[in-house]
This record gives sequence, structure tokens and C-alpha cells, in this order.
Amino acid sequence: MKQEAIELYRKMGLSEEVISFGEKTMEGLKERFDKIDEIAEYNQLKVLSAMQEAGVSESCLLGSTGYGYNDLGREKLEAVYARIFHTEDALVRPQITCGTHALALALMSNLRPGDELLSPVGKPYDTLDEVIGIRESRGSLAEYGITYRQVDLLPDGQFDLPGIKEAIGEKTKLVTIQRSKGYETRQTLSPAQIGELVSYIKSIKSDVICMVDNCYGEFTDLIEPTDVGADLVVGSLIKNPGGGLAPIGGYLAGKKECIENAAVRLTSPGLGKEVGASLGVLPSFYQGLFLAPTVTAAAMKGAIFAATMFENLGYEVIPSAGSPRYDIIQAIKLKNPKALEAFCRGIQSASPVDSFVTPEAWDMPGYDAKVIMAAGAFIQGSSIELSADGPMKEPYAAYFQGGLTFPHAKYGMLRALQELVSEGEVTL
Ligand SMILES: *Cc1c(COP(=O)(O)O)cnc(C)c1O
Repeated sequence: MKQEAIELYRKMGLSEEVISFGEKTMEGLKERFDKIDEIAEYNQLKVLSAMQEAGVSESCLLGSTGYGYNDLGREKLEAVYARIFHTEDALVRPQITCGTHALALALMSNLRPGDELLSPVGKPYDTLDEVIGIRESRGSLAEYGITYRQVDLLPDGQFDLPGIKEAIGEKTKLVTIQRSKGYETRQTLSPAQIGELVSYIKSIKSDVICMVDNCYGEFTDLIEPTDVGADLVVGSLIKNPGGGLAPIGGYLAGKKECIENAAVRLTSPGLGKEVGASLGVLPSFYQGLFLAPTVTAAAMKGAIFAATMFENLGYEVIPSAGSPRYDIIQAIKLKNPKALEAFCRGIQSASPVDSFVTPEAWDMPGYDAKVIMAAGAFIQGSSIELSADGPMKEPYAAYFQGGLTFPHAKYGMLRALQELVSEGEVTL
């Protein structure tokens, strides 16, 4: 490493030991990083060719106001998403406020009273508890007479195929498959694994809608779940596909029928996709999507760096440093509340915005334990930017993700390590 950088690292609060531990961690990561760059290269071409084939023009960046009729940029962007995910159609809107909203929209619009929803991969992401009605909640699917069943993964992380077969019945209309581990400590599913699960489910009931919660998974692999049989993928634009630039938004890509259902629910029956002004967000949606493959690659490198570093320090990390990865989240089991707080403090103080703030655990809407979050992001709560969060409960795991650039992710990790050293949690 250049002497100039070492001096800046020192000035920015890192000790000699932490800097050299970081350098040792870097050794041996080159091959992994090269593989990630190969995926990014392919996905960059995929995005670029989708934009070219859809005929994106300068006027697509202008946006609309009011009703947003004939919003060329909005329509072309949805065509670009459909090309990237190889689906019939897509819905990509700033009116979809976040990932949970996108998922709720997909579920509420494609399920009807009397239908049953099945999760064959265990409990979904915490915020969906209230959407589904796992925890009683105003406006939940349960309130509308939509029932829910769940089949957990087997202790070794495999699908419980007999259990899934038994759970699929007359009423099963939609199966929701969460790709990323979220706040669980299971493994993230690869698109290939999801493809096998979808084939199995379709072999039991061919007309069931297979939906994938694709949050954090986009562009981490050469293929997406819709390339292997999923009917619908859903995600957030303040994660991977927004490339750090989209200031809001969510997307759905899938079968025409599923997207139409979602569109008439998001706006109104009769209006569907025809309304919804894009205001001024289209340049950031397009440019963010264009940058998303390399931004996602930077975040993956950050996750691998973190996993390697903490594994070398003796912590249990998920996924382990050497295992393949299909999302950008890295979980590190810090084992006690003090260490989790120190870790988040380090990430916060490494941020470009609000670096002087001390994160504290709070009762976040939608979560059942207090959550501590570190995020000094340009976009509030953006988790494609360097961020860490973790529920204040056993095993006090920090979920680290993002970094718009690898050097920033690396500095964040070193800063977190420095805090752990200062707390006496780690000795180098
Ligand atoms: C982030 C996330 C969500 C929810 O998205 P929000 O934008 O936080 O509402 C849902 N599922 C998974 C797997 C996620 O990672």
C-alpha cells in the first residue's frame, strides 16, 4: 500500500496494528475479487445492452408531472428491467416506497380472499410478519382472509421437500421465496437452488405463482431467479439495482398477469401502469441501474474482506469467507451487545455523512427486537451504501452490507475493528 494512504489511515483514526491487519487480510483475496469482476463485467453488458435494445434516448430522462400519462422514460425503464430479468413485464416506480412495500404490493395484488400463501424457506424477512399477519396487524393479508403456511428449512439448510409437498394444497396460490438470509443466520439461496425449488413446486402444482424476494441479490450472479423459472422477482431500489443513486423506489419484474395485478393495486383499477408521474427521479433510476453491477461488485468485495478479517479473528461469520455468495450481506456473530454497538459505532464513524453521530438501538417499526443501525448514507437508510445493522438479541450478529466503492467498505471494516480493539473485545 502507498505510504500516502497509510498516513491518511493513521490520521483517520486507525492504529498501526489495525492497518497492517487489514493489509494481511488483503493478501490472498485477489483471485476472489477477479471472479467478482467477471460477474460485474457480464452484468454491465447485460444492463447496457438492455438499455440499447430498449432504445433509451435523452428524452427518457425528462420525467413527467401530474398524472404522468405517456411518460416515455418510465415506460422505457420498465422495458429495460424486463429485458434484464428476462420477464414479460416490469413495474419500476418511485411510488413504491421501499422493499417491504414492493413485496406487500406483490402479495396483496396477486392473492385473493380464500387463497393461501406458502413460504417454503422458513420465516420471511421481519417486516413481512405484519404484512402477512404472522404478527396481528391492521391491513394484513390475514385480515383479508388470506391464510399463510410455512415450511422451515431442514437443520442442514436444505429444502424440506416432503414437507413442502404436503403443504401445497387446493388453496395454495402463491409461494414466496426469500433469496437473501435477511436477519436469519441461514445461508442465502443461489438462483440455481431457487430454480430447483421452483421446478419442484411447479411439478406438484403447475399454476402456483412462484415469487422471489430478490432484495440484496441482484447482480451478484450471472443469472437471476426469473432465468430459472420464477414468475416474479421483487426488490428495492435503495439496495443493489438503484446503484446508490436512486433516492426511492421499488421494482417488480415478472409475468404480465402478475405485473398487471400489481399495477392496478398500486394505482387504481382501470388506471394501472398508465399513471404515476416519475417527477425528477428518472436520471437517477437509469444511471443507478447502469452503475449497479459494479457497485454491487464493490459491496461483495467489502463483504468478503469483512468475512476474511473476522474469521481470522476467530468470529463465526455467515457466509464463511471462502464460500460462494449470492447476496451482499455479511453477518458477523459478535456475541455480546457491547461488541455489536462498537462495531456499528465504527461503521458510522467511517461514513461520509453524519460521521460524528453515535448509533443507538431503537424500536424500529416492523421489527420485534430493538435494532441498532449505522448508516451515514447519502440516501436515508440506503443499504447499498456502507451500513451495518443488527437486532439486539442473541447471537448479537452485525449484518454488514454495502459500500459504493470497495476502498470505502474496507475503511469501514478497519474502523469497526479499531472500535473493537479500543473496547478490549479484540486483541491483535
Ligand atoms: C431489505 C429487505 C426487505 C425489505 O426492504 P425495505 O426496503 O427495508 O422495506 C425485504 N426482504 C429482504 C430479504 C430484505 O433484505
